[in-house]
Amino acid sequence: MDCLREIQGKQAHDPIFIEKMNTSVSWRCICVPGPLIVGAGPSGLATAACLKEKGVPSVVLERSNCIASLWQLKTYDRLRLHLPKQFCELPLMGFPTDFPTYPIKQQFVDYLEAYAREFDIKPRFNETVSQAEYDATLGFWRVKSVGVNGKGTEYVCRWLVVATGENAEAVMPEMEGMGEFGGDIRHTSLYKSGEEFRGKRVLVVGCGNSGMEVCLDLCNHNAKPSLVVRDTVHVLPREMLGRSTFGLSMWLLKWLPIRFVDRLLLIVTWLMLGDTARIGLDRPRLGPLELKNLSGKTPVLDVGTLANIKSGDIKVCPSIKRLKRHAVEFVNGKTENFDAIILATGYKSNVPSWLKEREMFSEKDGYPRRPFPNGWKGESGLYAVGFTKRGLLGTSMDARRIAEDIERCWKHEAKHRMVFTRSLLQQPSSDSSS
Ligand SMILES: Cc1cc2nc3c(=O)[nH]c(=O)nc-3n(C[C@H](O)[C@H](O)[C@H](O)COP(=O)(O)OP(=O)(O)OC[C@H]3O[C@@H](n4cnc5c(N)ncnc54)[C@H](O)[C@@H]3O)c2cc1C
Repeated sequence: MDCLREIQGKQAHDPIFIEKMNTSVSWRCICVPGPLIVGAGPSGLATAACLKEKGVPSVVLERSNCIASLWQLKTYDRLRLHLPKQFCELPLMGFPTDFPTYPIKQQFVDYLEAYAREFDIKPRFNETVSQAEYDATLGFWRVKSVGVNGKGTEYVCRWLVVATGENAEAVMPEMEGMGEFGGDIRHTSLYKSGEEFRGKRVLVVGCGNSGMEVCLDLCNHNAKPSLVVRDTVHVLPREMLGRSTFGLSMWLLKWLPIRFVDRLLLIVTWLMLGDTARIGLDRPRLGPLELKNLSGKTPVLDVGTLANIKSGDIKVCPSIKRLKRHAVEFVNGKTENFDAIILATGYKSNVPSWLKEREMFSEKDGYPRRPFPNGWKGESGLYAVGFTKRGLLGTSMDARRIAEDIERCWKHEAKHRMVFTRSLLQQPSSDSSS
């Protein structure tokens, strides 16, 4: 059953499948009185809940067959929240008090399911939005979605909330010789556990939080991981001075300039982890918080990977030149044998593939053009939630703002609707006057 659910969930993410469905569907039309939200991840749920609290009904469309499909279908087993739970709560409902500081994946999913129940959010599952366009003549958005059964629906709505996330599609880099390799090559979104790689030589490409954690997981399952580090990276301890590094940074930023906080973080990190450049992890020129602010690049919070790099259980490798039969040639000229390659190469937004609008969202990266904190609102009733590169904290801020904005419009229009209806009711009917 679980397997079928997973296959269906993954089909909904397959562009070829979607294209096929798009060309062979018959359409029906539904008018949505309130906002239409695309995506039932944390961002879509948070927005629907905030709207509900303000008395505004919404419809949520989700391409998968479950809420939070990224967490349920595309993440590895050992995943926990990277940040302490108080920074990951959605608006209006906290985590249960008995959850640990860093809830495991299943606890986070349980929380989101309880959240959806609490606010009576019932997404329409297996509905992949394939196109959304503003009809300026009507003053409404026309949103087309395709179901797995081949049925197409056109939703007509006054407000459209984009909640499809920063991680909608896996980024798969092109590498010379990929067809030649012959072993397993997969993205982290398809990696579950190191169990199936026991005793195997695995090359992990990408040294963000996922790449580092997958390496650790492989070590724990007695695989032999190597890590490709192509770029500079800030690795910080997850906790320092008895507090979470993230929480401490937020607190220090209230009083001190960002560069000073960065200095402080790097000094404590150096004392705790030593010089990471000595093990092949060069630091960027900018500090971790300044870099995050300017480029959105998240520092890696170490949960034990560094110790394994130091002990030699994880080997650090330079960029890949090309793949060969069960082997990889690196840019330094060395060639090594591998059984599998895991691509921890991140995700991208899919907004440009379905939203026919180029003012608010950039065609290049599928993010709002206006920088944080102003990217949440566009023209003609278009909104974006969860595109701040600031995780669930950013999601909560967006969701509250969007709900407040739509509520104002909704109430204003409701008054007009009421006046109009009253005037209709008060008009003497032609029957009685005759
Ligand atoms: C491994 C990992 C760990 C993370 N850990 C943390 C953390 O600890 N703390 C933190 O604050 N942040 C964390 N993040 C970042 C971020 O908070 C999460 O990615 C979060 O899930 C984002 O929520 P979202 O709703 O914006 O996007 P998603 O969770 O990606 O949800 C978007 C939904 O939209 C659906 N969708 C996409 N396209 C369509 C379409 N065309 N039609 C219909 N539906 C569509 C998707 O199926 C999906 O269900 C993590 C991210 C990852 C990848």
